[in-house]
Amino acid sequence: MNKIQDILEKYFGIKSLRKEQKIIIESILSGRDVFCLLPTGGGKSLCYELTAMVMKGVTIVVSPLISLMKDQVDYLKSIGIPAQYINSTQSNAEIDRILMDIESGSVKIIYIAPERLNSEFFINRFNNIDISQVAVDEAHCVSQWGHDFRRSYRNINPFIKSLKKRPVVTAFTATATEAVRKDTINLLGLQAPFIFFGGFYRSNLQINLYKEIDKIEFIKDYIRSHEEECGIIYCSLRREVDSLFMGLKDIGYSVTRYHGGMSDEEKNENQDDFLFERKNVMIATNAFGMGIDKSNIRYIIHVSMPKNIEGYYQEIGRGGRDGTLCRCHLLYNRDDIRSAEFLINTSTKIERREIELKKLQSMIEFCETDECYNEFILNYFGDTEKKKFCGTCSNCVKNDSLKDLTIEAQKILSCLYRTREKFGISVMCDVLRGFKGTKITQYRLDELSTFGIMRDYSSKAIKDVINILLEQGLVDMKEGTYSMLLLNNNSYKVLKGQEKVFGKLSDNAVCEDEELFKK
Ligand code: ADP
Repeated sequence: MNKIQDILEKYFGIKSLRKEQKIIIESILSGRDVFCLLPTGGGKSLCYELTAMVMKGVTIVVSPLISLMKDQVDYLKSIGIPAQYINSTQSNAEIDRILMDIESGSVKIIYIAPERLNSEFFINRFNNIDISQVAVDEAHCVSQWGHDFRRSYRNINPFIKSLKKRPVVTAFTATATEAVRKDTINLLGLQAPFIFFGGFYRSNLQINLYKEIDKIEFIKDYIRSHEEECGIIYCSLRREVDSLFMGLKDIGYSVTRYHGGMSDEEKNENQDDFLFERKNVMIATNAFGMGIDKSNIRYIIHVSMPKNIEGYYQEIGRGGRDGTLCRCHLLYNRDDIRSAEFLINTSTKIERREIELKKLQSMIEFCETDECYNEFILNYFGDTEKKKFCGTCSNCVKNDSLKDLTIEAQKILSCLYRTREKFGISVMCDVLRGFKGTKITQYRLDELSTFGIMRDYSSKAIKDVINILLEQGLVDMKEGTYSMLLLNNNSYKVLKGQEKVFGKLSDNAVCEDEELFKK
């Protein structure tokens, strides 16, 4: 691990790896393929960049974004990592020079556009090179079930197969449902991959949905009252970006814009204006944002309903990368449905329409749900690890019967800790309520500091909270003759106050004077 630490500090200026990066990197270095699903900002790039530097040979990074390759390579060079890229913007002479550099062993990371991988010329040249890893960035693009399908990603597997020596193959994405996950692993030909499924839940993204409001008035008010903050406003269409930009600029707001219909020069200039905070608000289509690493985006407004949840989650995922609050406002009118359908029917290839319309249906269900928005998204991605209610989205806040149970949960968990995880629900209830039953006196549990700390609560209420903890994975149950409650990693997060607990109690747990929990 020393070499890893040295490289980490020397090149990247980072002191330690995150837990998830550590296990992913260890797997890559042991030669095992990896499928890694981590949210945007989760530190995926570091996994392949660092392993590239540790392993002998060169790492090929397949990336769909030609426009970002140069930035990425410039960044790597600036920190002393020999990197290059190959894409359609270069002349043959330039590509030949780069290939010679690679062959001479003076390049460690080579970014390549997937289109290049089906050329006989490249396949032959790469066969003379010691390739340690093929890292596929935005790996979900290979699956037609994904929202970003790129046919050229289908070149990757045949390319890998054509190599005399198979390198370790790693796939990274921030967005993939179960179907996309399976498809991606298949289509990239990953061999018995280590699958890392990073928690999707970002507790600092506060999702708010507004229905049938005056969108322009909302936006004007919001920017005015948050003028010190940086935010992104996403529109569905280029002309919506233009008209909103003109309207807001004319009344003196610090705004800029970005969409695919603008020249590269203007796009770069506007992107820099936003990144360097010469302008506070970026108005853009979904063309803006991939690979943008700005940590202090405090709000993301969607002027209308996005076409799918994958895109929506990716877009709001650009907010709050520094871990502090980012407010995500989705402005939804029922008219958005027709516009989105129209967009799909007119701009999507016929064979993809059915898939896109299905995804749109889920997006509509999201906009119409009364349940927790975060829970909806996590279920959509098949991330069932996480608890049920976020307690911060506009539905949770609206939901009267949803209670903040953090204090109660902490009392229960600390009692569990004090009793050394040796008992089941009934004994726990008795200890917490200060009831001196046989088991309590036998094991001298009445001497614990947590004895009777929930004296004022009914045993039904305590059981309800324990069941909520179990349901939300915040505590485990070891089944057996005597079932025992066990602490897990999530329990410690609650105990340390790093995670809040929200839940609904059954009706008879609440007493008549409406003061929650009283006996
Ligand atoms: P992703 O590719 O998953 O979107 P990045 O690799 O771009 O995420 O990382 C996001 C940010 O977090 C970058 O600024 C990166 O330098 C930083 N980062 C990554 N790993 C670590 C770490 N172990 N410690 C501190 N910062 C990190």
